[in-house]
Amino acid sequence: MARRKYVVGNWKMNGLTAALGEAQAIFAAAGENKGVDVALCPPFTLIGPMISAAPGAAVGGQDCHAAASGAFTGSVAAPMLADIGASLVIVGHSERREGFGESDADVKAKAGAALAAGLSVILCVGEPREVRESGGAADYVLAQIAGSLPGDFDPARLAIAYEPIWAIGTGLVPTVGDVAAMHGAIRAKLGEQAGGSAAGTMRILYGGSVNAENAAELLGAGDVDGALVGGASLTAGKFVPIIEAAAAL
Ligand code: PEP
Repeated sequence: MARRKYVVGNWKMNGLTAALGEAQAIFAAAGENKGVDVALCPPFTLIGPMISAAPGAAVGGQDCHAAASGAFTGSVAAPMLADIGASLVIVGHSERREGFGESDADVKAKAGAALAAGLSVILCVGEPREVRESGGAADYVLAQIAGSLPGDFDPARLAIAYEPIWAIGTGLVPTVGDVAAMHGAIRAKLGEQAGGSAAGTMRILYGGSVNAENAAELLGAGDVDGALVGGASLTAGKFVPIIEAAAAL
């Protein structure tokens, strides 16, 4: 079966309750583009209010702790996200890996905890600029997959987001050929680790400076099943054209 396109917004540490109207407009547009799965991952504080403002919408977290509960001040556990109605969570975003020192093993534990709690997972990988420039991007990303993919999982509930770090929030994007090559390499690696049937089911998203202008080209690249979008997901005006571009493919 063909993989459905998947467009996910990562609001990062942006958004007060006044932004819920944007989410409502985004999910209204998603309802008109039924061929595309759309989700938003706002800050923890907005998850519950966003679900109340847009009942039935796919809303998720940007991180979770690997433990189900305990003395981890400031952290949020996967069962807590599920409890308030979240349906997904991002793990291993480069801003967590780099800014908070998360290792592949940490990301793997978080992904496992999220799946056990019934959430879907978007597991991020991506190389820094110097690795891309030295020609080591594929080795780097495939090692991240090897280290952070849980051992046993439902492939329909785990998507990979390939996000070159140097493309996040910079306006720089890899060539479409480079994106297609990396996504192809990731799918082959998933086949080795999880089996060909799982690899054929799993969605691989591209992330890094996706916007209304480049979405059609990037989303149309080989083995690209959707996009993880930061800055351009904060308003309906910028995000809806990306959803529409996915729907038109
Ligand atoms: C992201 O942070 O996941 C991201 C892709 O950000 P941006 O779209 O702003 O580059």
